[in-house]
Amino acid sequence: MQLTSFSFKSNVRRKLIDPLLQRNMKRFGGRFVEARAAVMTEVDNLETIRVAAAAIRDRSLANLDSYLLAFEEQALARGSRVHWAETAQDVNRILIEIAQSNGVKKIVKSKSMVSEESGLNDAVEAAGIQAIETDLGEYILQLAHEPPSHIIAPAIHKSLEEVAALFSENHHTPRQTDIPALCREAREQLRPHFLSAEMGISGGNFLIAETGSVVIVTNEGNGRMVTTLPRIHVTITGIEKVLPTLNDFSVIVRLLTRSATGQSITNYVSMLTGPRQEGDLDGPEQSHIILVDSGRSRLLGTEMQKALRCIRCGACMNHCPVYQNIGGHAYGWVYPGPIGAILTPSYVGLKNALDLPQASTLCGACQVVCPVKIPLPELMRVLREKSFEQGLRPWHERLSIRLWRGVANRPHLYALMTQMGVRVLSLLGGKKKLLHHLPGLDGWTDGRDMPAPQGKTFRELYRKRRS
Ligand code: SF4
Repeated sequence: MQLTSFSFKSNVRRKLIDPLLQRNMKRFGGRFVEARAAVMTEVDNLETIRVAAAAIRDRSLANLDSYLLAFEEQALARGSRVHWAETAQDVNRILIEIAQSNGVKKIVKSKSMVSEESGLNDAVEAAGIQAIETDLGEYILQLAHEPPSHIIAPAIHKSLEEVAALFSENHHTPRQTDIPALCREAREQLRPHFLSAEMGISGGNFLIAETGSVVIVTNEGNGRMVTTLPRIHVTITGIEKVLPTLNDFSVIVRLLTRSATGQSITNYVSMLTGPRQEGDLDGPEQSHIILVDSGRSRLLGTEMQKALRCIRCGACMNHCPVYQNIGGHAYGWVYPGPIGAILTPSYVGLKNALDLPQASTLCGACQVVCPVKIPLPELMRVLREKSFEQGLRPWHERLSIRLWRGVANRPHLYALMTQMGVRVLSLLGGKKKLLHHLPGLDGWTDGRDMPAPQGKTFRELYRKRRS
């Protein structure tokens, strides 16, 4: 996927004045939020399970090398072939080699965010191979030539009317806005591709070290068709997805589906363990697993390692007021929302996504809902500090932070400056005590008035109350 995170601010400006996107995002609103809140009440000891899930992810990451080798050994023993991709380019090269050596002309894909990282569809098409997305959201976006805007609901920014128009235009069928009818239409288009494709590509939610299995958690039947109908199946997934045992998975899955879509369990939970064996009724003749690093191992052993706990539930973006207003495309890469504000700079380089860690008020809603307790605001603060230390922020911002530090380190000066500040702001607020415009801080007042302080600092009010 083409990176545009470096122009985050102009992306945001465009998204905020896009009336269609704004309407669609409002319509999506709190649907996932409400569903999650309702279903979480079913879970006794939710906090204990979250702590256990975080500990499982930490144990997996602390011993990632040995669990990955154990996974490889088990997967090989069950007939899968394991490939290691150090970079995004390696993913595309390995995949194309497998396809070309097997005479593959058509690929059906189920959702794989890691393949978005490497721009796989463009690469295989450049190699003369057709790639067809079969997840409904991804299929819609392929027709619209757009990247996903959410990790579990990729076409969440599209309205029913837009999808109806896309289908009618691309399928040459009468326009219809009945959702079941549109789903049927997509199925009719996709079914021949499932039957004629030589290769299926899927992501993998988890890798189980003790059995060599790939686990896929999904709500659409396309996942099972992609992984069982074509004669070759390729899983593309990140190295951080490994879990030691099936027992560990049983803890994590209780949180994943509830945090993601507000379901106790999704329609399909598939465990893929090797290719078709003698006596099996279905399954691919070849099973390949591409394990992708692409920046992940750089985070191991650093304060950013906790970001690798992520189980891609999407809850942090669903609850983020910034994501709810700007949608996923503004973030400019595969992973939007709070986790994207951390993973994108970590994977593509801080200077290429400099403004993403700033795209938060640090309200903490993301951390509160994250099932594996990733301290997202803290990690954003770490990235902010790094960008300051590396001199990547604009000179005026660095200067103002230095001035602020100088004042904040001197209590008497701080008291004097804040007294002057609140009095001036109070005067500027006039009778209504509202600030319509703050020179140099337009971001605070461009879209709304800022309440002016009443003319006294907190310290003065506190002293008065005590006396
Ligand atoms: S950071 Fe947490 S809440 Fe966000 S997608 Fe990952 S696991 Fe889910």
